[in-house]
Amino acid sequence: MPMFVDHSPPGQCIFCRLVAGEIPSAKVCEDELTVAFMDIGQVNPGHVLVATKRHAVTLLDITPEEAAAVLQTAQRVARAVQAAFDPPGMTLFQANGPVGGQTVFHFHLHVLPRHEDDGMALAWPRK
Ligand code: C5P
Repeated sequence: MPMFVDHSPPGQCIFCRLVAGEIPSAKVCEDELTVAFMDIGQVNPGHVLVATKRHAVTLLDITPEEAAAVLQTAQRVARAVQAAFDPPGMTLFQANGPVGGQTVFHFHLHVLPRHEDDGMALAWPRK
């Protein structure tokens, strides 16, 4: 069971408020369309989320420009995570809808450093 499920209406969701600076976050970097910040849950040290600035829920809701910007920001974050934590591996994952494992309904991509025997399945960290 997820620890946290955000059912706020669009525009008032936790990541919209984070993007607006209404709640604090440990921001890593941002560009016109995306923002990257440390995941409050830190599954492994260096766990970062890349979110769209605009409220969108799933992969089906983001524009091609946002999709490209998310991946570009994720690569920038991954380089910084590699330099800071030197993990032997990294997993990128992105959940869509409750059945897909999404708990915050504002589009975001996880950049997750991985380590040998970190207790997570190889391809999917939550099982
Ligand atoms: O993929 P999913 O939607 O479950 O990911 C949501 C993520 O948002 C969780 O990893 C959770 O730790 C993170 N979170 C956060 N800051 C909050 C609320 C949730 O980083 N204020």
